[in-house]
Amino acid sequence: SVPAAITSALAAGARRGLLVKGGAALEALGRARTVAFDKTGTLTAGTPTVTAVRPLGALGEQEALRLAAAVEGGSDHPLARAVVRRAEELGLDVPRAEAGQAQAGRGVSATVEGRALHVVSPRFALERGWLGADGQAEVQRLEDLGQTVVVLAEDRPGGALALIALRDEARPDAGEAVSRLRALGLRPLMLTGDNARTAHAVAAPLGLEVRAELLPGDKLRLIGELRAHGGVLMVGDGINDAPALAASSVGVAMGGGTDVALETADAALLHGRVTGVADLVSLGRATLGNIR
Ligand code: ADP
Ligand code: MG
Repeated sequence: SVPAAITSALAAGARRGLLVKGGAALEALGRARTVAFDKTGTLTAGTPTVTAVRPLGALGEQEALRLAAAVEGGSDHPLARAVVRRAEELGLDVPRAEAGQAQAGRGVSATVEGRALHVVSPRFALERGWLGADGQAEVQRLEDLGQTVVVLAEDRPGGALALIALRDEARPDAGEAVSRLRALGLRPLMLTGDNARTAHAVAAPLGLEVRAELLPGDKLRLIGELRAHGGVLMVGDGINDAPALAASSVGVAMGGGTDVALETADAALLHGRVTGVADLVSLGRATLGNIR
């Protein structure tokens, strides 16, 4: 019977670390045409590390890191955690920031020792006129190496104080996840707020199509466009991608992601292996076949 086929598929999934929240989710998994991956924490490990600090003026490296860590202290973004962790490793005395504010897809701002400071994407720093030609050239050089760069800045023309480069390694099974989905006839795609150079450096070895420099609203619009061509399965870890998970036909949370991702998603990979996405699709298709 139909309920029995669904119940046994849900139980079979659960035994393999594939959590599916009911029959409708299972059906949507089986019908997906496009698989949109968030980059950070989904295709990558999500624990970036600081590889370089490049002051753009008189500031010393450690002073730049100390201020950036103070600004990032109130953010739970993976880049923020990496900056704070590096400051701790160096034993820096990080001051407490006030009036911290995050702007999704752009960065964070806070008052540190009476100075209004920002740690933001190079794109945003450029838009605000904070980043000069020298800074831009250095950003591009670091990004071409596959690193993500954030800018410590004051809000004034040419106010960029330092660049911080971070590296986030691809998950070891990301390439296999992409090729298995393609073998199932699906279109895998990476969506990211990160810059195009870094995104391509991560995606190219995986043979993956990319849409980069997307603000949260851009991701939602793109998912809407993709849904016009069939079901969209979105995979994320929930660090600011909960709206995208909710906007897709079926949202899948990576295990070890945030509670909000587990709440918003229709399914979750409790074992944390991204190849589980292909297993979820196969499980959904097998169940659709069994109840027809
Ligand atoms: P992703 O799509 O990889 O999850 P986000 O949308 O979270 O990326 O962020 C996009 C970009 O915005 C980051 O690459 C970074 O440049 C900037 N950004 C976002 N949050 C922060 C933060 N807390 N500190 C510094 N930069 C940030
Ligand atoms: Mg994210």
